[in-house]
Amino acid sequence: MSTTTLPTSTPGTSAGALLHLVRTRQAETRGDLSRVTGLSRSSVASRLASLVDAGLLLEGEELASTGGRPAGGLQLNPDANVVLGVAVGRSRSQVGVFDLAGREVSGDTRDHEPGISPEKLMPDVVERLGTLLAGVTAPVAGIGMSLPGTVDPVRLTSVDAPVVRGWDGVPLEPWLRKVTDAPLHLDNDTSVLTRSELFGRVPAAQTMLVLKASTGLAMGLVADGRLVGAGRGHTGELGHTRVEAAGDLPCRCGATGCLETLAGGWALVARLQEQGVEARHIRDLVQLALDGEPQARRLLREAGRHIGEVLSVAANLLHPEAVIVGGDMGGAFDLFVAGLRESLYANGHPGATRALRFLPSTHGEAAGLHGCAALAIDAALAPEAVDARLRGRA
Ligand SMILES: [Zn+2]
Repeated sequence: MSTTTLPTSTPGTSAGALLHLVRTRQAETRGDLSRVTGLSRSSVASRLASLVDAGLLLEGEELASTGGRPAGGLQLNPDANVVLGVAVGRSRSQVGVFDLAGREVSGDTRDHEPGISPEKLMPDVVERLGTLLAGVTAPVAGIGMSLPGTVDPVRLTSVDAPVVRGWDGVPLEPWLRKVTDAPLHLDNDTSVLTRSELFGRVPAAQTMLVLKASTGLAMGLVADGRLVGAGRGHTGELGHTRVEAAGDLPCRCGATGCLETLAGGWALVARLQEQGVEARHIRDLVQLALDGEPQARRLLREAGRHIGEVLSVAANLLHPEAVIVGGDMGGAFDLFVAGLRESLYANGHPGATRALRFLPSTHGEAAGLHGCAALAIDAALAPEAVDARLRGRA
């Protein structure tokens, strides 16, 4: 599996490594590449020629004519390939086609019955991808897919997904082979959300906690510019941390006293229903809160407070510069963060929270889908993958 690499890394000197330097903006000209890698100008030139021949790199006049970049500038050709993203959640699936710069070419989001089986959903996903690909001429370089829970990124199946139970152990590749032969990459939903914060830009912070607050609660971690646990297929099970305030409330995981029983979307919805307010999904509750419904507002703010209490331990240990709020609760960012901020400041060490910023996830509701695309692009454009591709052409 690839790992997300950031501008601070020092890749090698192959053609693939040079493309990586260009795409991560560590080098914009031939001179930059010579300086960064120590390669002679002629060595740089021959490597760039192979990249241009393969259609992966744009240079000079070609670029100047598109505006923006100076003549002699270098840029990844975003149209050399497309990748596909497939983000499957408990009650919604998103599919999309992306260029190599991570821009969405086309996409499609649909709700489905909670806990739908793969036998029911995957044929639909395949059909939707086929429709999106109609008229796309660039070859597909890969598919990035995410599922909730723990996945096996090598066997390409779900391993333990309590919210989509019927998916465990079911091979996903055979369905997607109907769309493309390009490699499939599978990861956990919070992991791709976290990856989406790193892809294609200077990240908001070198160390950040990336919260997914939806039906369940999970946390991804970027430490010193790196996605922690990339390729492992699971992320921080924040929601199943025992908290005293939860007492012996039963959790959907089978244990009692988990944070989710107080602050998970499923628990908030149940509580709102007990108050006689109609809501079926955390997205309904968020919308009610935005419309001013007082119980929904109170529940979201309290959820933020409970979550902040647990996050304060992580903040004390890691001194993050930012907390990114993703997931459905991020839709009511101000309300939720008010609670989060309150308890993080109350429970965290002042030195650990002084410079802390709270930010919404960059891609909002489509963050997971963008992360799936990033997963496929990072794999397709990893230096060793590009080098293998160039060898295949020679
Ligand atoms: Zn639990």
